[in-house]
Order: sequence, then C-alpha cells, then structure tokens
Amino acid sequence: KLHNLIQEAKGNIRVFCRCRPLRKDELSAGHATVLDFDAAKEGELGILIGGSTKKIFKFDRVYTPKDNQVDVFSDASPMVVSVLDGYNVCIFAYGQTGTGKTFTMEGSEDNRGVNYRTLEQLFKIAEERRETFVYDISVSVLEVYNEQIRDLLASSPTSKKLEIRQASEGVHHVPGIVEAEVENITEVWSVLQAGSNARAIGSNNVNEHSSRSHCMLCIMVRAKNLMNGECTKSKLWLVDLAGSERLAKTEVQGDRLKEAQNINRSLSALGDVISALATKNNHIPYRNSKLTHLLQDSLGGDSKTMMFVQISPSEKDVSETLSSLNFATRVR
Ligand code: ADP
Ligand code: MG
Repeated sequence: KLHNLIQEAKGNIRVFCRCRPLRKDELSAGHATVLDFDAAKEGELGILIGGSTKKIFKFDRVYTPKDNQVDVFSDASPMVVSVLDGYNVCIFAYGQTGTGKTFTMEGSEDNRGVNYRTLEQLFKIAEERRETFVYDISVSVLEVYNEQIRDLLASSPTSKKLEIRQASEGVHHVPGIVEAEVENITEVWSVLQAGSNARAIGSNNVNEHSSRSHCMLCIMVRAKNLMNGECTKSKLWLVDLAGSERLAKTEVQGDRLKEAQNINRSLSALGDVISALATKNNHIPYRNSKLTHLLQDSLGGDSKTMMFVQISPSEKDVSETLSSLNFATRVR
C-alpha cells in the first residue's frame, strides 16, 4: 500500500538501465568502455561521446555489469504485489540485440530472470494470503512477428489468425488464445519451456528470429476476496522486445526490409504511447501497432509500467547505446 502511494505520487512509469559486462571477445579485442557508473547509485549514467564530451542520463536506477539477477528482481518485486492487489502491470526489456534483454527477462535455468522470479513470487504471496484470497493464475505465451500474433501454446501455432478484441472498457483480449492454468512454479516452468520450443519452430536461426520478434508472456490473475466476496482480474505482461538496432542500408532488402519496418513501427509506437502517457496527453495512440494494442490495458490508467533499457558497455556500440538512452528519456 505504501509502495502504491509512493508510486502514484511519482507517476506509474519506472525506467531502469542495465548494462551487460564486456564479452570475452570484446575484452580480448581491447574494446574500451564509454560508460561511467560513478553515480549509478543515484540513477545516473554517464556516456562519453566523441572524445571528452560526457552526457548524463537519469533513471530510476542504473544496474552496472556487476549487478545480478537478484538485484534486478528486487525492483520488479513490488510490481508482483501490485498484480495480486488487482493492478495491471507491464514489464519490458528494450535494446539492441545482444545487450541482455533475454538474459534479464528469461535468464537461464541456473540464473533465472524476471519472468520466472515474478511467477515464483506470485505463487509465494498467493500462498501467504490463502486465508483471505483465492487466486487463479493462468499464462499465455505470444509472439508478435511482422504485425502478426502467434500463440506459442497453441497445438499448431501458425494456423490461426489471431486478432485483438475489446470486451469492455479497459478489457482487451485475443479470442482463441491458450490460457494455461498453472497451480505452481513447476507447471509454469514447463509452460515457459513449451513456449520457447514453439518459438523455434519454423525458423532456421532461432536467435535471429527472436531478435526480430516480440516475445510476450501474459499472466492473468483472478482474485476472490474471501472476506467480502469481491473479485478482481489483473493482467501482467512480461515482454522481451525485438532488437532496437537499425540495420545497415545494404543489408535491408526483401523480407528483411519488411521485418525492419515492422520492428521500427512497433517500437516507435511503444515510445509514442509511453511518452503520450508521460506527458498526460489525451490521445494515447495504442492502435498503431499490435504490440501497443495488446499491451493497452497494462499501459496507462492506474496500471504500472517498468522498462529495462538494456545497453552494451563497448565503444563499438555507442551509437546504438545513445539511441536506446534517448528512447528512454522520451518515456521518462
Ligand atoms: P538480447 O536478448 O538483448 O539479444 P541476450 O540476453 O541474448 O541479449 O544476451 C547476449 C549475451 O550476453 C548472452 O550470452 C547473455 O548470456 C550475455 N549477457 C547479457 N547480459 C548479461 C549480464 N548482465 N551478465 C552476464 N551475461 C550477460
Ligand atoms: Mg534476445
């Protein structure tokens, strides 16, 4: 409750910056880093551009390459409580391919990311509250590629054409998608595995494909308060966005051109929506992309948004890093 009050006072969008460590190959190639983490604790990130000019970017918090998955989850964890309290929430990772979006959201089996930890905590708190609340939790796993929605839990993910419908004010859904009921974290793990296996189907290079599509988990929480009979429904989106990098002009032809345009379109649409929300604009352009249309209920209103801007420490990536940092300032 206190957390919610603080958050209302500050607005509902939180922006975090996470920098991955230099890779082995970058270290051995002698890449310098252009970032300055001296004021990371205060949420400031310095970046050297063109020699001695330093630009400062402000965030709710900056994670240095030394911060681990537990540190990162400590800031996501209050969002979990909000979901169980009936708020809609959206947590997403934005950035250039290779900067750690999937590392932050999915992580690995021995170094779990936000997705798994979030669900684990949902079940833990639900259990603690079981004398007062009954919770039903279900999970959907979707992919948006070239402005098309694919249900990664469907028995044949490619066959159906999926559309977004509005059931009532503030309630959007995708008729026909699989909502897997989950009772515990073990079941969640197998659902997440099924989703990521389905993602690989039909693509000859899984990593390339996943960097060009948005991977979206939707957790639906239905709560019944046993004291007063009140029922609430809330939705939590966990999104691993497509890579934000601009492709070299020579590379962009045919299918790749279409992909790149769709990615640009949906990421710009996301930036437009969040900046319209941040400036309290009356018109929020949710309908400009499948991504923002899907997220509509969890962006704006009294819902809470958390964004991870993922960056590379290497001087070689400085122009992409700047463009990601600029995206972040647009929305903050
Ligand atoms: P993206 O999803 O943005 O393309 P990945 O999550 O696949 O990037 O990360 C690229 C590589 O960097 C992976 O090998 C990943 O394990 C590693 N990596 C990313 N972030 C970190 C981090 N904070 N600590 C250690 N390794 C990381
Ligand atoms: Mg990835």
